[in-house]
Amino acid sequence: MTAKLSTNEIRQKYLSFFESKGHLRLPSHSTVAPDPTTLFTVAGMQPFKPQFLGGAATFPGIEGEHRRITTAQKCVRLGDIENVGRTRRHLSLFEMLGNFSFGDYFKKEAIEWAWELLTSEAWFALDKSKLYVTIYKDDDEAFGYWTALGVDPSHIIRFDADENFWPADAPAKGPNGPCGPCSEIYYDRGPEFGDDTWEDYKETRESARFLEIWNLVFPQFDRQDGGVLADLPFKNIDTGMGLERMASILQDVFDFYSTDTFRPIIDRVSELSGKAYEGEKSVSHRVIAEHLRSVTMVLADGTLPSNTGRGYVLRKVLRRAIRHAYLLGFREPVLYTLVPLVVQAMGDAYPELKQEESRIQSVMKTEEVRFLQTVAAGIERLDHLLSVLSEGDTLNGQEAFTLYDTYGFPLDLTIEIAEEKGIKVDQEGFEVAFKEQQERARAASKMGKQELFGAVAEVLDEVAREHGATEFVGYDTTESHASVLALIVEGESYKIITVNQTAQVILSTTPFYAEGGGQVGDSGMIEWDGGWGMVTSTQKTPQGIFLHTLEVKEGSLEEGAQVRAVVGPRRKATERHHTATHLLQAAMRTILGSTVRQAGSLVTPDRLRFDYTHNEALSTEEIREIEVLVNRWIQSDFAVNYAYMPIDEARATGAMALFGEKYGDVVRVVSVEGGVIRDITNETISSKELCGGTHVKRTGEIGTFVIVSDENLAAGVRRIEALCGEAASQYIRQQFDLLGRAAGLLNTSTTALPERVQQVQGQIKELNQTIDNLKRDLARAQVSGGAGQNVQELGGFKVASLKVVGLESGALRGAADSLMDATQADVVVVASDAGLVVKASKDAVAKGANAGKIIGVLAQAAGGRGGGRPDMAQAGIKDADAALGALEQAF
Ligand code: ATP
Ligand code: MG
Repeated sequence: MTAKLSTNEIRQKYLSFFESKGHLRLPSHSTVAPDPTTLFTVAGMQPFKPQFLGGAATFPGIEGEHRRITTAQKCVRLGDIENVGRTRRHLSLFEMLGNFSFGDYFKKEAIEWAWELLTSEAWFALDKSKLYVTIYKDDDEAFGYWTALGVDPSHIIRFDADENFWPADAPAKGPNGPCGPCSEIYYDRGPEFGDDTWEDYKETRESARFLEIWNLVFPQFDRQDGGVLADLPFKNIDTGMGLERMASILQDVFDFYSTDTFRPIIDRVSELSGKAYEGEKSVSHRVIAEHLRSVTMVLADGTLPSNTGRGYVLRKVLRRAIRHAYLLGFREPVLYTLVPLVVQAMGDAYPELKQEESRIQSVMKTEEVRFLQTVAAGIERLDHLLSVLSEGDTLNGQEAFTLYDTYGFPLDLTIEIAEEKGIKVDQEGFEVAFKEQQERARAASKMGKQELFGAVAEVLDEVAREHGATEFVGYDTTESHASVLALIVEGESYKIITVNQTAQVILSTTPFYAEGGGQVGDSGMIEWDGGWGMVTSTQKTPQGIFLHTLEVKEGSLEEGAQVRAVVGPRRKATERHHTATHLLQAAMRTILGSTVRQAGSLVTPDRLRFDYTHNEALSTEEIREIEVLVNRWIQSDFAVNYAYMPIDEARATGAMALFGEKYGDVVRVVSVEGGVIRDITNETISSKELCGGTHVKRTGEIGTFVIVSDENLAAGVRRIEALCGEAASQYIRQQFDLLGRAAGLLNTSTTALPERVQQVQGQIKELNQTIDNLKRDLARAQVSGGAGQNVQELGGFKVASLKVVGLESGALRGAADSLMDATQADVVVVASDAGLVVKASKDAVAKGANAGKIIGVLAQAAGGRGGGRPDMAQAGIKDADAALGALEQAF
């Protein structure tokens, strides 16, 4: 082996190697998944699903087609987070080096190049005798290529489709679509790592000695019904090599944690905590270093800690690291100070780390402070509990559980702290309490379901048993005949209801859409022989029974009656807003990028509301662009199509689904054709979403679309509101009317309004200036005229006083200055019916005069209050004469 390669050099070599084989190097996609099948990006191929499915092999901002791509992709896998730090193979953040072919080269080249890169002296120069491979049992082709390169057949294991097929077990279990065998490459780390053999691996499939480093996937089949594997018209290559695993091999160290990426972090932790690193025993050192890296990267990509979705997972990982810092003795935030070490190691390859460094640190510090506060409260409680126990005692499991449940205080910390005092923790008791609590939670949620939408569960169960779910015909029609299966009033089953009564009506068939998927329930009317009523809302129970809230307007309605159910006109307006929501989402993803995700939505006849993930406010320009794109789509009058398909198939076609939302096996996919061109990039647009809602038949029916607001909802989540059809035209009309009224008031046209407002603002400023000048003149005139001035000797001071008119604060002070200049008095008093000012000269103050005190007396006499410094005081009063009348008392 040549000189040891750094992790950065290994990444660089891999990418250069494939560049030399005609691959285009692309940057890593964000850790935020490019499609909603996962929260985080989990594999190098994930950003290229469209190309693997036969889409154009073009990339934004890059000219021409590229059928060979190579990347280093940052991947986040949190499947077995509890084991991170404890095992040697798995990291929560790792880099997957990959080379991809979209219908270009295939298996032969993929295998030969992998071998060349791994073994050639010019590249990784691994010892050939230490390399092993696995292949799919029927893949003789792969066997042939490997052995032709000199791989000993005894180094090759054939595995079933559960191990060496992508997706696993696809031939037997599906899903239909692209799939294929794979071939994994292993490196023998030697007998010091484990005494098992390659032969054993066939059975154990777990080994500390044989480490999987690279997986080559050959998607060559199109799986069809019955497990038929037809040849794909275009064959792809998808490979993934674990960078950190390669680094541990090429740097010849025991595991990830001794490589150049992790070691500096671990060393710093040792230094700061004063606790030496002892390899696998030092779980806390390892967890901190590992989690710090993934949290830093996920934060760099804009995900913020929160209580749901991606943010929740991030918070969990970060808190795990904080806990381990606590176990090492840290009582103050410390993790954020380690961020620069991650930036140092990975910042050249991932410049976002450098750009976001200070923001990452501040978010991390805030989380640390908060969590440490929680921990502190728990410790106080725990100290109290431990103070009544002595060495050798056991802390009650229920108490430990309460600490966990109410204080969020982790069990391992409780154990650790109790241990220091020689006290054990009853862990079995903890488990029992934990299970009991879960039972209680489950029972409570069952109880909560007893009464649903005001109907007693038994009534609903009975209807469900006898008639099954309500037949919904509302996708195709807004009117249907039906029979009344049940009438429920305040939770009880009724045989008949009459005028002015309100009931929940269950029908055999209904055209009414029930509230769901963000769309409001329908309203309308139900009529029967001899009567009718209004339906104000429609809801659906988990059994699929539709409940129509009906107010009887005329006649009586009996169980078993035949009725005609008619959905009201608001449905159409709702559909406009629903289809527009789909178009809006697609347009936003086109313009703002695919990190925009639906976080909630509300579709009503009057407006649509769409909550989405995004970290900054939209610019006016972006809003305009989104609006234009949606309106163009509407004007081009495209068809809205529906299809039913199994969920996996729907996902494979790239349909958008909300993560965490539950769908049945067969789903409805609503797609809107696109082809609308975005000016700048020539992109076409289309929409495909899993959706059970009702929609317009063609986009043209939406009419008009206007965005009325975009605001911040929570960290990283924004809310946009928009209007369609008549609601939009009404809104536009109102805006015009408002503008018209404003223009009318200012005697101008709407187009000239902004200039006119500016002009008026200018005039106001000028007028204020003139008024100020006039007041100053007025003050000067009143003083210089001499009239009304009164100069007298009071308390040994020369006191000048003057009553003025029409002046308040600023001008009064000016008048006081002028009066002092004109009379050379020791103290001056100027009063108007709005205010009062008293000034004393420096000399007078030195001799004991005090303007603040004087004004107190004068203001009181005038029914006001005032105060100030010895040399200058001011008061608001209403009666100048009263104030001046009290002058003698003030000295
Ligand atoms: P394993 O069976 O070892 O868990 P895998 O089969 O799940 O790995 P792939 O999905 O085939 O892994 O990913 C391709 C390569 O990425 C693997 O060969 C491995 O080198 C690397 N890799 C996968 N998961 C991790 C992880 N959690 N941490 C570090 N490297 C990983
Ligand atoms: Mg694998």
